[in-house]
Amino acid sequence: MAGFDGVGWSPERARMVDEQIVARGITDPAVLRAMRTIPRERFVPEEVREQAYDDAPLAIGRGQTISQPYIVALMTELAGLSPASRVLEIGTGCGYQGAVLAACAAHVWSVELEAELSARAARTLASVGIANVTLRVGDGALGWPEEAPFDAIVVTAAPVATPPALLEQIGPEGRLIIPLGAAAQELYVVTRGASGVSRRAVLPVRFVPLR
Ligand code: SAH
Repeated sequence: MAGFDGVGWSPERARMVDEQIVARGITDPAVLRAMRTIPRERFVPEEVREQAYDDAPLAIGRGQTISQPYIVALMTELAGLSPASRVLEIGTGCGYQGAVLAACAAHVWSVELEAELSARAARTLASVGIANVTLRVGDGALGWPEEAPFDAIVVTAAPVATPPALLEQIGPEGRLIIPLGAAAQELYVVTRGASGVSRRAVLPVRFVPLR
């Protein structure tokens, strides 16, 4: 039986990356390296730790969920990050997606509506030694204007329409990765170019609603 630490869970983590992430076509080496090293089991609540590497979303408390590992990897790859990237995440949740983004970027700013989840994420990030994530409690629909523009904005709760503040806070070469919709949702990549805003649907998804 696996131990409750990053080392003890490495076989499960390696298998998850091979079978769920590489097998489904994720190739960005930084994303694969992040998913192979970040201890997902430390981010999920104790009660569901045995399922940390399952091919499924998991409950993280307050009625919220942590995305399936593949969706975390896909959103990170779609964000098109470099080691210099400045990233905004909406919906900190347990902090796992933020940790994966932070491993592929220079800095992540992450906004969460629920103070309790943000506080727990802060403790987890500190305990695994991730220092380049800054958390704030508030309404993510407003973005983080003081730190804008961002090279990428990753939204992990679904609004029905793109919040205008987030569109404004994407840098000139930046990308917004966002699930949109209510019962039926699609994951979109939104870019802003000379000819205005363009969006591309990537795949159907199911996220908790942006409140
Ligand atoms: N990225 C997270 C998954 C988050 S689930 C992870 O890796 O665990 C979506 C999160 O969005 C929930 O924690 C929910 O509380 C939060 N959320 C919902 N509406 C929000 C809003 N308007 N502003 C900020 N966070 C919000």
